[in-house]
Amino acid sequence: ASEQAASEQRDWLRIHGVSKHFGAFNALQEIDLSVNKGEFICLLGPSGCGKTTLLRIIAGLEAQDRGGVSMAGREIGQLPPAQRNYGIVFQSYALFPNLDVAANVGYALKTSRAEKARRVDELLDLVGLAGTEQRYPSQLSGGQQQRVALARALATSPSLLLLDEPLSALDAKVRERLRQELRQLQRKLGVTTIMVTHDQEEALEVADTIVVMSNGRIEQIGTPEQVYREPASRFVAEFIGRANWLPLLLDQHGQATLAGQPLKVRIPTSMIGVNFSASAFCRPEDVRIENRWEVGSDSMMAVVERVDFHGGLRRAALTLCADRTIRIIADVGPNDAGYAMLEPGRRVPVTLPGHKVRVFPGTSPC
Ligand code: ATP
Repeated sequence: ASEQAASEQRDWLRIHGVSKHFGAFNALQEIDLSVNKGEFICLLGPSGCGKTTLLRIIAGLEAQDRGGVSMAGREIGQLPPAQRNYGIVFQSYALFPNLDVAANVGYALKTSRAEKARRVDELLDLVGLAGTEQRYPSQLSGGQQQRVALARALATSPSLLLLDEPLSALDAKVRERLRQELRQLQRKLGVTTIMVTHDQEEALEVADTIVVMSNGRIEQIGTPEQVYREPASRFVAEFIGRANWLPLLLDQHGQATLAGQPLKVRIPTSMIGVNFSASAFCRPEDVRIENRWEVGSDSMMAVVERVDFHGGLRRAALTLCADRTIRIIADVGPNDAGYAMLEPGRRVPVTLPGHKVRVFPGTSPC
């Protein structure tokens, strides 16, 4: 029985072969995506990549040209929005300005007055707004209005919650607090959630799974760790976090050199003997600054060009001594060996840990 339950949870929502064009413009091309029950998914990508269009198709607010959407094994891709059983929150709170908080939250409830009042209380409690029943939207802060919108979206206990950039109109502090609360609430209720965002930090923090999109296509589907540590494409590597791109030369056996010095990295077999130029990708926090030069080490000499203070760490821009056109950014914490070495003009040994470096074909980023 538990196996059956598990298989019902898997691929609970399926988007299959969805395409959409607006005139001559292909907004979505052959999108396939499976969402497990209870999962928190973020659709992440730059403006215009099609993430909102995909959310609207799931909601039935936009019709796909091809493909479909199924929920719990049932095709819903042709149903009107009201028959799809979801709650939705938009970036602009979209509350009814002439209704008070209680009436906004209870709007979709078709129960008795007493039952409605009980449920509204429960929902307002859930979003931390107990006692605001009689206030009007104009009397609430942006963050509070968005909590009301969330309570309204959850009123009928939908099995799916759709969020279209719900936090992006809020200021930074409120946004950070609300995204934590949103995640806790989502876990507590176990409601399957799909959130559109262009904010990679937000996606990395709250999502179980991130769907990175660009130009109407999915670039990668993975956990926050996977898309950050093992980006599937240059686009993903560039879009999420900061990236160092270093030009590599490969010989026909796949041995790599950077500025004439051997670099021990894993070269994808598909690139060996085919590509003779490639780029090494590594995150700034993976670049190690040593506090002394070890004979026989893999380190390379670099010059510190500038150092910026970033709260808990120092962000250093360096160039390689062997080729000053090659720039590296390193994020160094106070407990790292090289922290005290970071002074502009100083020469420091730099190590690129081979197991954290990923190699992509071609020379220029993106
Ligand atoms: P943003 O973060 O800016 O909202 P997005 O990734 O959500 O971007 P979409 O809103 O899905 O992007 O739009 C994808 C593309 O389709 C954009 O180029 C947009 O201009 C276009 N588009 C969206 N809706 C329509 C429409 N109704 N008519 C014509 N073009 C549209």
